[in-house]
Amino acid sequence: MKYVSTRSTDKDGVTSAYAIKTGLAGDGGLYMPETIPSPGNGFFESLIEMSYTERAVKILSLYLTDYTTDELTEDVEGAYSESKFGANPAPVSYLDEKTAMLELWHGPTSAFKDMALQLMPRLFVRALRKCNETRKALILVATSGDTGKAALEGYRDVPGTAVKVFYPTDGVSRVQKLQMQTQEGDNLSVVGIEGNFDDAQNGVKRIFGDPKMAKELDELGVFLSSANSINWGRLVPQIVYYVSAYCDLVKDGRIRFGDPIDVCVPTGNFGNIFGCYIAKKMGLPVGRLICASNSNNVLTDFFKTGTYDRNRPFFTTVSPSMDILISSNLERLLYITLGPYKTREYMKELASNGRYALEKGDLELIKSVFSGYYTDEEGTKKTVKDVFENKKHLIDTHTAVAVHSACEYRDENEVNGILLVVSTASAYKFAKDVYGAITGVDNIDGVEALDALSELTGVEIPIPLANLTNKKIRHGSSISKEDMDEAVREFAKN
Ligand SMILES: *Cc1c(COP(=O)(O)O)cnc(C)c1O
Repeated sequence: MKYVSTRSTDKDGVTSAYAIKTGLAGDGGLYMPETIPSPGNGFFESLIEMSYTERAVKILSLYLTDYTTDELTEDVEGAYSESKFGANPAPVSYLDEKTAMLELWHGPTSAFKDMALQLMPRLFVRALRKCNETRKALILVATSGDTGKAALEGYRDVPGTAVKVFYPTDGVSRVQKLQMQTQEGDNLSVVGIEGNFDDAQNGVKRIFGDPKMAKELDELGVFLSSANSINWGRLVPQIVYYVSAYCDLVKDGRIRFGDPIDVCVPTGNFGNIFGCYIAKKMGLPVGRLICASNSNNVLTDFFKTGTYDRNRPFFTTVSPSMDILISSNLERLLYITLGPYKTREYMKELASNGRYALEKGDLELIKSVFSGYYTDEEGTKKTVKDVFENKKHLIDTHTAVAVHSACEYRDENEVNGILLVVSTASAYKFAKDVYGAITGVDNIDGVEALDALSELTGVEIPIPLANLTNKKIRHGSSISKEDMDEAVREFAKN
């Protein structure tokens, strides 16, 4: 299987290892497999009796054809080991007769990004070797919370790599900050930036674009790389859990093989939901895809009107991992639906005007699969409370956005089958807001909220979060944004 850029008609593709090593294509586009495999019903049925890791190897083998089965098996088993994810990495639970929840937060950082970021570093290290890259990869991350921690945990002590994370000192939650400041591992560094997320992000972009920096690092035997969600290595593991969830629904007797299910995903960068779209393209019986946004509802408007417009106010919400105005992976949907020419034109417009408007026929194609909904702050909190009180399920704020959207979708449409809602974080990761939503108390400290929420609900705190306050602070420093370049240089020397 070769990989091609979303913006190019050049059909000479690259290997999956090369796509994973480089992340972005040379023309600024994103890598996509040249065709989506359609392995047939027999393939999906054969997975029903398998474990998660066995299913994962079968699916990844279709895409990462320059990796051997042995390599993929070793990587998948290492990534989703019981010590990291418990017995089942992506279990399905049930809110009621017709609503299933796909729980993606059983990994080491209690959010769904672990599903990709536990596996990708392993694929990445193999990719370096397959591409004869002998330099050390320095992964630079600017984070508003979840990605930074998941990248640190994923790349921790991975040979041939080092990670440096920048986060806004006053722009992440107490729990998120503690998670990063107490991070263990010998190949990583975490620094606060006196500024907001944009300052951290712009600093990282500046460093990536600086040829002098690249040359200096090269002399040290180091090159810069990124772990962000446009890398194919982060997307491909996200196909697996949709297929796996479908198999579990069959196994649990909730559906018969072949019955379509609708899927609702809390969305920011459009990476998670895109994994489901690919699974559908492969032939998995998925009906409608419901894209759930928070008040930063640029995607809801897009699916309704065909106009993508990032020129709008930015809101800081209780579902911060979805506070995004540019959903990078949407480009991949444009590519599959409309082809590279149109994708390139629309992306050009986005870069120069911050907006583009689809032609009517193009919008119809996309609307035949996707529906967009959004949930405001009040609706999010109310849903956390309702679901806890009426369904006895403790959900986090991101998942609440999706549950609310799923209900709206159901109210407006005739839905008979199972609706699968994707649950992307443990409620404890956002304990302060979840506790506030249920009790109305909002002046509680972020760490105290962990215990308070556990006392209130009787639900156990995930171990990595429960141990947080006993851990030593290893990365307490904070620097000004002007000093980021120097911090990278210093780190590269070690
Ligand atoms: C990152 C994240 C999302 C959004 O996922 P995308 O792939 O960016 O659409 C939703 N919920 C949580 C908890 C996240 O960390």
